[in-house]
Amino acid sequence: MRRRLTILSIIVMMVLAGCSGGVTNPLTDSPSDTGTAGPHDGSDTLDDTPPTGTVVTEGPIENETERAETPIDTPADSTGDKPVSEENPWGERTLTVAIDDQMNDGRSYESIVENALSYWNENSEKYAGYPIEYEVGSDADDADLVISFVPNIESCNTKENVQGCAPLYVSEDQIKRPTNVEIQGTYNETSTKLLVIHELGHTLGLRHGDAPKQIMAAKSDFTTIPKTDAHEKDWAWDHSPLTVAVDTSSVAPQNKQKVSNQVDKAINYYNSKGDNHIPGQASFTRVNSMEDADIKITVDSSSNCAQSGDCAQPFGYDPDHDNRLENYAFTEISVSDANPDAVGWYVARRIGIGALGYTSIGEFPTPLRSSQPESVRTSRWWQ
Ligand SMILES: [Zn+2]
Repeated sequence: MRRRLTILSIIVMMVLAGCSGGVTNPLTDSPSDTGTAGPHDGSDTLDDTPPTGTVVTEGPIENETERAETPIDTPADSTGDKPVSEENPWGERTLTVAIDDQMNDGRSYESIVENALSYWNENSEKYAGYPIEYEVGSDADDADLVISFVPNIESCNTKENVQGCAPLYVSEDQIKRPTNVEIQGTYNETSTKLLVIHELGHTLGLRHGDAPKQIMAAKSDFTTIPKTDAHEKDWAWDHSPLTVAVDTSSVAPQNKQKVSNQVDKAINYYNSKGDNHIPGQASFTRVNSMEDADIKITVDSSSNCAQSGDCAQPFGYDPDHDNRLENYAFTEISVSDANPDAVGWYVARRIGIGALGYTSIGEFPTPLRSSQPESVRTSRWWQ
């Protein structure tokens, strides 16, 4: 529920922004003021790509909040041989780092992490004020830090869709073992290394704008590894079945039941796999709440969209920032009730476009192709 509300608030932002095509802001990052998280926030990437009407949404940009400096206690003595700086909140000079790869994409993160750790081995004294020697270890339970590479960071502290997440440590009482650092694993090697160095910088007490400024800047442009676009996937949702809600409040009272039945025919057509173009996961179930539904259908002859008959607008995620969705979060469909007997056809067609990613005529089941005349659209085409 909370995620949906956030997505909805992003839509409001997009509407205010005019929904212009191809606008890309640099990625923004805000450190935590609580010492528990320091996320890399996502950009707002807006797009409107015909014919799918795609809108790309990502996390909001938030302002940096400054945290009051906490006096640093004298650190505990390390059990190691090397002296521990009093500035060092970790209380140890040597920290072990484990890698937690949740990407399952065949890519190895070890050399990227080792490069990032080498950077701080050489530069922590200069920038953080105390020397740190990182070692890569394999056991996450015994590690001081675990760096997790994940497909998507839904939230970090209160911020959504961030690229990296790590706590800001400035005093001994904040240290947690293991400390989890999350990195979105969708960027190229250079960007990923920069992200790891940046997030580790927070765990060494560095804030945005601190030196080295290029690394600790709140904004960075990251280069992503291209990922498969939603419309090229059989199924671009993270679950099935999808919930479908219909708003018939603008439909004439005598037509409400017919319109509702037409929607049922459309989703039953997909559920019964009436055509071999329909992917196996394509399954839909009716719910009452428009807010909670994956597919939000408004039947209304007076909407802007309905002037051209119908439209579908998927919302979702663009982790590789190519201005095309890779995964859907929800889809809004608008259909005219000018001919109540054709509502099911338009709903089915728009589900194909906005939830199944059909773009070319050959992808649609035969009865739903745009070449079908009105006589078919108002028939029992689902049989
Ligand atoms: Zn940051």
